Amino acid sequence: MDHRTVGILGGGQLGRMIVEAANRLNVKTVVLDGPNSPAKQINAVGEHVEGSFGVAADIEELAQRSDVLTVEIEHVDVGTLRGLQAKMPSLTIYPTPEAIELIQDKHVQKEHLSGHGVAVAESIAVEGTEPALVAVGEQLGYPYMLKARKLAYDGRGNFVVKSRDSIAEALETLADRSLYAERWAPFVRELAVMIVRSPEGQLFSYPMVETVHQNNICHLCYAPARVADSIQLRAKLLAERAVATLPGAGIFGVEMFLLEDGELLVNEIAPRPHNSGHYTIDACVTSQFEAHLRSILGLPMPRGFSSMATSNTHAIMLNVLGDPQVKDKELAICERALETPGASVYLYGKESKPKRKVGHINIVASSMQEAERKLRFITGGAVSLEE
Ligand code: ATP
Ligand code: MG
Ligand code: MG
Repeated sequence: MDHRTVGILGGGQLGRMIVEAANRLNVKTVVLDGPNSPAKQINAVGEHVEGSFGVAADIEELAQRSDVLTVEIEHVDVGTLRGLQAKMPSLTIYPTPEAIELIQDKHVQKEHLSGHGVAVAESIAVEGTEPALVAVGEQLGYPYMLKARKLAYDGRGNFVVKSRDSIAEALETLADRSLYAERWAPFVRELAVMIVRSPEGQLFSYPMVETVHQNNICHLCYAPARVADSIQLRAKLLAERAVATLPGAGIFGVEMFLLEDGELLVNEIAPRPHNSGHYTIDACVTSQFEAHLRSILGLPMPRGFSSMATSNTHAIMLNVLGDPQVKDKELAICERALETPGASVYLYGKESKPKRKVGHINIVASSMQEAERKLRFITGGAVSLEE
């Protein structure tokens, strides 16, 4: 489909699923990560680079073997990417280093969005000292959310400051990290949407979905979101406005909060495929991974569409996390999924460790009730699939 080689910074599950989509289009990919990382396991074609997306020399090595660079994670050495942009004008980098830089510091991201009129929770940069956190408590009230500005994922980097008494523990937990504080968002639902942008700046939005987190880790994703159409539309417009403030092409995952009074806030943006978009592999004609590739390579998108929705498909995605007690015990859920019509199992080739994301299950059905019944069967509820 395209003679150019795509270099991927990061070889985890997102990189692996980008490789899968690229393979179907005969697009060659090379991966920068540790040996035998999930993306490398399924790619015998590329001349991969062993190393880290945080190390300049390793990124430069990947660039030498690539025509287009992309990322599966935003925590990369962005200074090196900027340098490459200047040194190698023939190299395309999407998402652009500018977009990655705006996003990878979550406080800078919030300031950027609010500066462009996109609603976000009030966000204050704060020193990691007791008096500074007390002052924030006086300004924002309790509880408030203390967050690491950088290198955060799956809620690792967040601490709920419930009262003045929890400040010492917060400082201990997030010691040595650069911090900011966010006003508490009393959300009734968490929404998310994948938005693709072509190099010409055209936006394509997938359906609005609803994510349910457990212990800060995404547990379930309902597509479409179980909220009124009018809310989905407002959320889509907000997310598109947020993505439009960022430069460059690629796919973006936008996480949002729906508050009780109907107000919507952007929580954060990921400049890459996202956990809340995994359902697209089975529920949409073009998956988020293929859409990302098409976008960064400037390949065509379906003509005349500004939406990636498919008709009347209802989907639930369940993340498979390593069992906290017994290694690989989570595979029992996957086996039940194999028995379930409309369910597909994706395992990432990662060793099972407690609470680690080792796979996901997509369930598609013609109604949300049917998808939920299938989910109950898979997760071990006493439910008959024939109900
Ligand atoms: P990800 O794995 O999505 O990158 P992360 O580590 O960057 O996660 P956030 O998305 O900032 O973390 O927060 C994780 C979860 O914590 C959110 O999905 C939400 O459930 C909750 N949360 C975050 N910020 C707030 C807030 N200001 N008020 C209330 N809850 C919040
Ligand atoms: Mg995040
Ligand atoms: Mg998040």
